[in-house]
Amino acid sequence: TSLPEMPAGLPEPVLPPNAEVVLTKRYLRKGSQGEVLETPRQLYWRVAAAIASEEAKYVDSSYSVEELALHFYDLMITYRFLPNSPTLMNAGTDLGQLAACFVLPVGDSMEEIFDAIKYAALIHKSGGGTGFSFSRLRPQKSRVGSTGGIASGPISFLRIFNTATEQVKQGGTRRGANMGILRVDHPDILEFIRAKEREGDLNNFNLSVGLTEVFMQAVEKDEEYELVAPHTNQVKERLKAREVFGLLVQKAWESGDPGIIFLDRINRDNPTPGQGEIESTNPCGEQPLLPYEACNLGSINLSRYIQNSGKDDILWDELKRDIHLAVRFLDNVIDASRYPLDKITETVQKNRKIGLGVMGWADMLFRLNIPYNSQEALNLAEKVMHFIQFEAQSASKTLAEERGPFPGFAESTFAEHKQGPFRNATATTIAPTGTLSILAGCSSGVEPLFALSFVRQVMDGERLLEANPWFEKALHAAQCFSPKLMEEVASKGTIHHLDYLPETIRKVFVTAHDIQPTWHLKMQAAFQKFTDNAVSKTVNLPHEATREDIWQIYWMAYEMGCKGVTVYRDGCKSNQVLCTGDGG
Ligand code: ADP
Repeated sequence: TSLPEMPAGLPEPVLPPNAEVVLTKRYLRKGSQGEVLETPRQLYWRVAAAIASEEAKYVDSSYSVEELALHFYDLMITYRFLPNSPTLMNAGTDLGQLAACFVLPVGDSMEEIFDAIKYAALIHKSGGGTGFSFSRLRPQKSRVGSTGGIASGPISFLRIFNTATEQVKQGGTRRGANMGILRVDHPDILEFIRAKEREGDLNNFNLSVGLTEVFMQAVEKDEEYELVAPHTNQVKERLKAREVFGLLVQKAWESGDPGIIFLDRINRDNPTPGQGEIESTNPCGEQPLLPYEACNLGSINLSRYIQNSGKDDILWDELKRDIHLAVRFLDNVIDASRYPLDKITETVQKNRKIGLGVMGWADMLFRLNIPYNSQEALNLAEKVMHFIQFEAQSASKTLAEERGPFPGFAESTFAEHKQGPFRNATATTIAPTGTLSILAGCSSGVEPLFALSFVRQVMDGERLLEANPWFEKALHAAQCFSPKLMEEVASKGTIHHLDYLPETIRKVFVTAHDIQPTWHLKMQAAFQKFTDNAVSKTVNLPHEATREDIWQIYWMAYEMGCKGVTVYRDGCKSNQVLCTGDGG
């Protein structure tokens, strides 16, 4: 199929600060000598045209390809919506792999283990991230039938996956990201919990322990639980649940790793249980998937849906229109994408999972003068996400009428409950938007800001002071802006201590460390309530936080219906890895 030509007079994207550097380094197409082959305008048109051109085969569509390409282009260059990085990098190119999230199975044989390593390498090369469960591998020191030898166990294989990842660079710029999961009832669980004890170990992996309902109840009742060898189903040992939970808390306190995911809860929401159990998520935890499944994500920039004046300031009609366009976009991405393995193509096309989410949430709150750590913010989070989930599902229903439901629909829980039909087995996910938020010039995902202003060192030694635009605007409006103040804010990041600033400004412009950990968690739970998949969120803790604080956070996450939780205690590690703007 030929792509629609770029129309004359197409508006030029206006790039937010830093977007140009990131685009040039990572997204613009390059020639064999590394020379840049396209402009940002050409990039966004390439993506819009490639994704819109999938529309041609759907004869019942009310859009022409040309018209849809213009809508998609407009969505992206106004930064109201951006698809995940691989779509921006690869749409309309020979590579054509457009999804960010993959889960691969790891079977209990040499062949299956090394197949998984090979498939992961192919996925990393194409810009995607991979998640694996190691729970099916026999524990270390088990017998190996064919050789009479002794198995080395999940953690030693994890190291091989990690080394392989280290060597495969994505387009020469970033390393791949992985999630490694082990069930809490696997006999090697204690070693797994300690696997990232030493700084730098397994640094291409995020680790999460897969907690079960049985285990959580054993913690609650202070009982023992069973460790079961997966290859024989034999009980190997019994451990005190609270001791294991305590070790988990201790390690998370020391280094942030491992996180936890609630496996039974994730499977309770599995829309296609007939196709098997969900055993892992993607690298940052927001996307549970079946083995060999992939998912493409996209994010709506909430900071763009505010009127300049008036009280109820949210532009709901515009938001609704864009959600419907974004769902169409993401569904077309599934058709446009070429996956590195036939089995993945098959699974993806069967369930057609997409993950529409949000970014710019902290900016939206700034613009509405609502403190992140307030009941009002939680109420608004639920209202906004409920709206997005409802409209995304309604858009998926419209697509099912035009294009047919996802092929796995008849056996899905939706069909069982007489819901739908839907085009997509899931519609909503909240991604970290580590790089997308830089391209869009907004706050990332549903996280609060890290600093209201900071100093960026540029190459020739020059210092550039960067401030959040809404903060700067509010200071001007209150007539307290001064370059000296901005320097002061940059040195600490926060204005919490500046008691000469107006009370309202200090209340509204809070940063990650001004916010009590429980508010972080409540915000995650508010968004999770209306998200089909999961929510990427870090609960930031001050350096002084205790192990008991983390124990409480984990327990609250369980009680509040989160699908998992990741904590990070300030200063517990000298550098943070994975999923930062630079991709690690
Ligand atoms: P982006 O902003 O680049 O689109 P996000 O920060 O929202 O990406 O991350 C979304 C998902 O993309 C992650 O959960 C992971 O699956 C994938 N991803 C992120 N960074 C990397 C990386 N360095 N390598 C591979 N996959 C990645």
